[in-house]
Amino acid sequence: MAITTEVKVDLFRLPLPEPIEASAAGVMSAFDMVAARVTDSDGVMGMGYTVCHAGQGGSIAALIDGPFREILMGEDPDLIEGLWRRMYKACHYAGRGGPVSFALAAVDVALWDMKGRRLSQPLWRLMGGAQQMVKAYAGNIDLNFPVEKLVAGGLASVEMGFHSVKMRFGRPTLREDLARADAMRDALPDEIEMMADANEAWRVDEAMRAMRDLQRFDLVWLEEPISPDNFEGYRHLRAYGGVPLAAGENLHTLAEFATLIGVGGVDHPEPDLTTCGGYTPFLKVAKLAEANGLPVMSHGAHDLHIHCLAASPNASYLEWHMFGLDKFMANPLTVHDGYATAPDRPGHGVDFDWEQLGAYRV
Ligand SMILES: [Mg+2]
Repeated sequence: MAITTEVKVDLFRLPLPEPIEASAAGVMSAFDMVAARVTDSDGVMGMGYTVCHAGQGGSIAALIDGPFREILMGEDPDLIEGLWRRMYKACHYAGRGGPVSFALAAVDVALWDMKGRRLSQPLWRLMGGAQQMVKAYAGNIDLNFPVEKLVAGGLASVEMGFHSVKMRFGRPTLREDLARADAMRDALPDEIEMMADANEAWRVDEAMRAMRDLQRFDLVWLEEPISPDNFEGYRHLRAYGGVPLAAGENLHTLAEFATLIGVGGVDHPEPDLTTCGGYTPFLKVAKLAEANGLPVMSHGAHDLHIHCLAASPNASYLEWHMFGLDKFMANPLTVHDGYATAPDRPGHGVDFDWEQLGAYRV
């Protein structure tokens, strides 16, 4: 049996290719990436990472470097569920979400990657293997872009091979949001699907008005119309109907997903493994969704999410959005004819160029 002999943590602050805006977060010009590299006594190394807004990565890195390292060292890295539970419990008093979930994510992904590399298997096969190809959608259309740039971005995504394109809502008036959606719908070919993300822009009453007027776009979903904490509001909006609802990127625990799904508040659960504790809880959310007759999709980090979606029979969509991290990867994922294909390399198969990343170390 191999034991963990090294836990290495790195914090990078990476500038975005250009500033982007979402209703909840405002304008973002850089983000923090925390990477964990775990090595065992056989020399097998696994890597995991998480991302967050600039300035918040330090607390995540400190959790991995401190209490998580203490738990991992000298232990069998293959016992992922057991280690995950110990890390979660060790920090639950100041945790149950927040930076603890992000730190858990980086370590959990590293442990899964090690397992895959040790067994020479790609993760999507180890996790159950449902289908190697997953429908992908382009999620990089922004609230601060003038309408011409917004439409050009949508068309560029179609050119890249996407059949599904998402835009953001949350301009000062609903009229403006609708005009932007009209421009996008007019420009995109009829067969291209549209989704929209309001990033918590509205109250329940405002969301109801929006949902009434959005029906003409036949959106695949409307994402986060209201605050992620308002579970009762989601239940109310879903019962109001007319537009399917998506949410999950701001839920950081399995319990929060159980609550949202339990109240009947969502059509498209959208966990993000980098914010909810890694592959281990993502797979539980996916199965919870399946048991409730719902699909599961992902948010961000498409290079990591391709595996847990390819392992889920109820996978619907892979969001294509990772803040330009692709350029630091040896084999970035590609999309063809609307689909991404999970790689056959061992583990998650993501290899960063550490030397290039080193220029951004904090
Ligand atoms: Mg979103």
